[in-house]
Amino acid sequence: MIPHTKPSFGKEEAEACYDYMISGNYVTEFKYTKQFERMIEEFTGAKHCIVVNNGTISLTIAFLALDLQPGDEIIIPNLTMVASLNAATLIGLKPIFVDVTSSTLTLDTSDLQKFITPGKTKAVLHVSLNGKCGNLNELREFCDLNNLYLIEDAAQSFGSFYDNKHLGTIGHIGSFSFSIPKIISTGQGGALITNDDEIADKIRKIKNFGRAGGGDHNYEMFGINAKFTDIQAVIGIEQMKKLPERIKRKKEIWKLYLDELNTIDEIEILNYTDDGWVPWVIDIYTENRDDLLKYLKEKGIDTREQYPVLRQLEKFSVSEYYSSRGVWLPATMEITNDEIKYICNCLEKYFCEHFPQV
Ligand SMILES: *Cc1c(COP(=O)(O)O)cnc(C)c1O
Repeated sequence: MIPHTKPSFGKEEAEACYDYMISGNYVTEFKYTKQFERMIEEFTGAKHCIVVNNGTISLTIAFLALDLQPGDEIIIPNLTMVASLNAATLIGLKPIFVDVTSSTLTLDTSDLQKFITPGKTKAVLHVSLNGKCGNLNELREFCDLNNLYLIEDAAQSFGSFYDNKHLGTIGHIGSFSFSIPKIISTGQGGALITNDDEIADKIRKIKNFGRAGGGDHNYEMFGINAKFTDIQAVIGIEQMKKLPERIKRKKEIWKLYLDELNTIDEIEILNYTDDGWVPWVIDIYTENRDDLLKYLKEKGIDTREQYPVLRQLEKFSVSEYYSSRGVWLPATMEITNDEIKYICNCLEKYFCEHFPQV
């Protein structure tokens, strides 16, 4: 089976973990966590990075740091991983769903004013699905004009830039995930970035029981424990060193698939050409998805379906359409060019057999 997702760690991570463990450190977050945070700040250009235990709680912490209250409304795209929504409902925020655009499958901002209730709507959650986005500068301006916070769920966008800015740096807060399928991983893990000193300070306290340091009882605000570990950090530091190579390879993988699959009429590919874009998943769209997935499985090709929509409503026609047709093809760091060719050949064969040209 050609796997769809696979962890990608090597002897660099193994040796770093070994060296760390025999050095007599505390394992919980400390010096290496700070070093990992500094590397992310440097890479993204954000003033502050705070790592946490995953990319779901990171979003909840972002909402708390912005003082969002139970009952406050938050705009959420109808097509995203369920974590984006659940991070908001966990603290009683009221999601207001908005459809996505067909060009990027990200929040349709063309008529956003319509979804804003003055006094009630407090924030917009933008999700850069597969590293893509629409005009984020314009969205930030819109949010500023309407007194709304812009939070970027950039879990799938580590490494991706828009308008020379790393995704996650255009909103008030950006959030990343380092779970196994993401471009770099620490097993589990998440990070928040912001350019605002006050917000950064709050995030640091919220993830640490509401206090600034360790070992005291000075709880300045509400907080939970969402701390990282130095073991994850030493892995993350090695993964960061591999990031430029991974970005290059992801772009190559996309190009290889695109060149082969562009000629198949029954497959729709969203062509996005931003130079800063790092294709994280290889997503194709087609009718009769179930048949195709069965066929690919028989050929030893592991796939995933695009996310289900969050709300099934007639008016969300774009998210419904792409959600029901989307297939993610294998795109691991280990996939070979020959395997990509094989997958493309299987797809060509499938569509020739099932949709013969007349
Ligand atoms: C992966 C992901 C998350 C959740 O991150 P975890 O670290 O798995 O909690 C949230 N939002 C999006 C868009 C994701 O892809």
